[in-house]
Amino acid sequence: MPHSRPRYTLSDCVGDPREWSYTWEIRDDVSFSSSCDFCGQGEQRHTYEVMREAARLWVCQRCVGRYEVTGVLEGEALALREARNHLHGLTARLKQRTCQDVIRTVQALSDNPALEEIAVYFDRNLQLSPERAALLFNALGASGLAIDPKIFEVQTRSAVHQDEFGALAQDDRIAVWAALSSQQKRRLDSLGYAPSKSQLAATRMTAVTSPAKSISGRKSEAPSKD
Ligand SMILES: [Zn+2]
Repeated sequence: MPHSRPRYTLSDCVGDPREWSYTWEIRDDVSFSSSCDFCGQGEQRHTYEVMREAARLWVCQRCVGRYEVTGVLEGEALALREARNHLHGLTARLKQRTCQDVIRTVQALSDNPALEEIAVYFDRNLQLSPERAALLFNALGASGLAIDPKIFEVQTRSAVHQDEFGALAQDDRIAVWAALSSQQKRRLDSLGYAPSKSQLAATRMTAVTSPAKSISGRKSEAPSKD
């Protein structure tokens, strides 16, 4: 057969996706354990609530881009692009708030004074430098909270940040590595800064077997209706 089946198919309960509309509720799952009610894809961070009469489902970011779902905002039916733009803005604000809350939570559980500077740095940059990321992720690991470091963006674009990463101790590089995109990893690997493969494998085994406390997923506030 020349055509392979699509990797994700729409669940039978959905019907025509255009019959659904956004409620503008967004979940930010810091352990990436949510799944999409449209396509079934798991390991999601952000999911978006959609409604059809009394029914409610949560859909992934890809399905937001895949299907023509829109919504009503302050009494006005939004065009597809407007709906996606609105979700994009809500998601960005939610992401930022989640990261700020996580830093404050970790700070409350740790006695490391450097976390205050990290909180201020994040507020200003909305990203973490490699050194700050290592410090935060180590404190996060010690906290036992089930929070995936991937919720944070780590700065690796400039030579200064790349060298900062390369200068980290092996354990710190491993801690930060877990939060990097595959593109970031390839770049740092090409510079000779990747942690050794065997060390990474050993760390993954520990991560899988160590117990973790769970924290509940958070929701965005609905936009104000006045
Ligand atoms: Zn989906």
